Amino acid sequence: MCKKIILTASTDIANLLIINEGLTKTKNAVCIIDRNYTITFCNEVMAALFGLPLQQIIGQSQEDILHEAYSRNTGINIGSDSVHDWLKEIKKNQRNLQENEFVLSSTDGDVFKLYRVKVSSGEHIVIGTKITELIETQKQLKGTLKKLDELAKTCELTGLPNRRHILECLEKEFYRAKRYSSMFAVIIADIDHFKKVNDTYGHSVGDETIIHFSKLVKDNLRETDMVGRIGGEEFVIVLPNTDQVNATILANRIRESVANCPLPLESNQPLRVTSSFGVSQFLTSDEDKSEVVKRADEALYIAKNSGRNKVHSY
Ligand code: GH3
Ligand code: MG
Ligand code: MG
Repeated sequence: MCKKIILTASTDIANLLIINEGLTKTKNAVCIIDRNYTITFCNEVMAALFGLPLQQIIGQSQEDILHEAYSRNTGINIGSDSVHDWLKEIKKNQRNLQENEFVLSSTDGDVFKLYRVKVSSGEHIVIGTKITELIETQKQLKGTLKKLDELAKTCELTGLPNRRHILECLEKEFYRAKRYSSMFAVIIADIDHFKKVNDTYGHSVGDETIIHFSKLVKDNLRETDMVGRIGGEEFVIVLPNTDQVNATILANRIRESVANCPLPLESNQPLRVTSSFGVSQFLTSDEDKSEVVKRADEALYIAKNSGRNKVHSY
């Protein structure tokens, strides 16, 4: 019987030594804080997070250590204007919560996720894992997703919203007008005889013409107006809080700037193109966004048939 007890005690001590060595060598940050908030164990990784040499940590109160690190601007970024309030919050959690998880960053740019648990004897054990790379990867992933989202919405040639995106904007405007009885107008713009540009000067001059045209349109719009490319040389302009009369004035302004601003070419005379426009405004009787687009499209057809370089509203 007696032999067995001795055996268990020596096994426990052996285990404690193993645990002590493991906690000292682990890549995780570990410390033990006693019930009086004195640090009784700390490994090198946690010492680095405190921003102080290990010898200055053991036996010191957590408050003194955190104050010291704060005044030296080493170790933990406290993420608060007041170190006093920050420490108060830490103590409150230690008193009231059996366990908690939190994230801290250090002044040298590392990020740690920490877990604190209070054991039955009243000590707190804090274990931290460095998540700097994970956070960096998450940031990059978010950036990539944002870029992908932008790409999915953008016309590669002009940088304007593509067909799907501008039609989504139009749909939002349509529901806003329905809900708040607001007004908006739609212009469909199309370059005249564009096929001839391609046939005469080649596809890349055709592309340049589309880019040139899209810039001229954009230059004439307000910040809140939207324009997107819905097809080859066809664009939709959505004008919030604008009626048909003012949309027609704007369409004529764009038409004139297109006609008066030829595209400079390297080995040819500047290329002058014209464009035609169909205008329509939202009507309260419209059941779907397609109705206002259909009227603008019909108006464009009339503008084309009445000689091009024209604006027609419907
Ligand atoms: P209209 O005055 O009636 O509008 O005549 P149009 O020649 O402008 O119209 P049509 O629809 O007959 O021709 C449009 C041309 O646009 C045909 C197509 O090859 C060309 N196109 C479509 N997308 C692009 C593009 O991205 N780049 C270039 N360069 N051409 C394109
Ligand atoms: Mg055309
Ligand atoms: Mg067309």
